Amino acid sequence: MSDAQTPNQYTMQDPRTQYPRPPFPRQPQDAPGLTTKMDPVPDHGEESYRGFGRMEGRRALITGGDSGIGRAAAIAYAREGAAVAINYLDVESPDAESLKDLIEGEGGTLHLLPGDLTDEAFCTTLIDDAREALGGLDVLVINAGKQTSQESIRDITTEQFDQTYKTNVYAMFWLAKAAVPHLEPGSAIITTTSIQGYKPSANLLDYASTKYAIIGFTKALAKQLAEDGVRVNGVAPGPFWTPLQPSGGQPQDKIEEFGKQVPLGRPGQPAEIASTYVFLATQESGYITGEIVGVTGGDPTM
Ligand code: NAD
Ligand code: MG
Repeated sequence: MSDAQTPNQYTMQDPRTQYPRPPFPRQPQDAPGLTTKMDPVPDHGEESYRGFGRMEGRRALITGGDSGIGRAAAIAYAREGAAVAINYLDVESPDAESLKDLIEGEGGTLHLLPGDLTDEAFCTTLIDDAREALGGLDVLVINAGKQTSQESIRDITTEQFDQTYKTNVYAMFWLAKAAVPHLEPGSAIITTTSIQGYKPSANLLDYASTKYAIIGFTKALAKQLAEDGVRVNGVAPGPFWTPLQPSGGQPQDKIEEFGKQVPLGRPGQPAEIASTYVFLATQESGYITGEIVGVTGGDPTM
C-alpha cells in the first residue's frame, strides 16, 4: 500500500482514498476462501489497531474469526485485553494459524476451535469448548456466513438454500441457545447481518433473506434477554473486502467493481469495522440493545 493508503484508523484523512478503490483484478477461488489469495490482501488492523484496555478480562468467542470481519474483530478484541476463541472450517487453518501466531506473538490469547456450524451438535459443543478454554463466556460474536451468487432462483439448489440457511440462521439460533444459560449480566451477543438485510440484490436471494432473518432474530432476542441484563445487537456491513466475495459470493465482474456503488466509492477493509464490534461488546454501549449498526460506506440502511 502507498502512503496515501496508510491503514491507520487514528490519523485524520480522506476516507475515500484511505484504502484501495476499484477496479480490482478478477480473483476466483473456491469457497470458503483464503485471505492470502486476495489481491490486494485485506487490512485487518494487523499494523494499526491499538488497544486501550477496553476489554480487559472479557472472554469472547467469534465465529468465522479466521478471516475477514471476524479476523479484524479478533485482533481488536485481543489487543483490548480480551481472551479470544475463534471458530472456522478446517480448510481455513492457514488463516487461523497465522492469526494465532500474530496474537500470541504479541502476548494475547487465541484458542482455535474449528468445526462445521451447520451441525447442531457441533454448535452446542463449540459453546462448551469455548467456555472451558476461556474460563467462561461474556461475548458471543455470531459472524460466520455463507454467500453464493446465483442469477436466478432456477439456479439455487435446495442444497445451497439449506447450507446458506444452516450457516447464517440455524447456527445463530443453535449458538445463542447454547450460550444463553451461561451468560452473566453485562454479557453481549453480536450478530452480523448486512446491507443485504435492507436492500437485497437480485443475485443474492437466499443470502439476503437470511440477513433479514438475522435482523428480526437480533431484535426479538434483545427483548427476551433484557431481563437477564444481556444485550443483543447486530452489525450491518456494506461491501467489505474479504474472501467471502471472490469465492463465489459475487460474480467476478462484480469483484472488479466491488464497492464502487457506495457513496465513498470503495469497499471497506475489515480493520474499519473492528471497533464497532468492540463498542457493542463493552459497557460503552451499555444502553444499546436490539440495535443494528450500519457500517456501509454511506449506503443508507433505511
Ligand atoms: P469471510 O469469508 O472472511 O468470513 C466468513 C466465515 O464464515 C469464514 O471465514 C468461515 O470460517 C465461516 N463459515 C462459513 N461457513 C461455515 C461453516 N459451515 N461452519 C463454520 N464456519 C463457517 O467473510 P466476511 O465478509 O468477513 O464475512 C463475515 C460476515 O460478514 C458474514 O456473516 C457475512 O455475511 C457478513 N457480511 C460480509 C460482507 C462483505 O461484503 N464481506 C457484507 C455484509 C455482511
Ligand atoms: Mg475464512
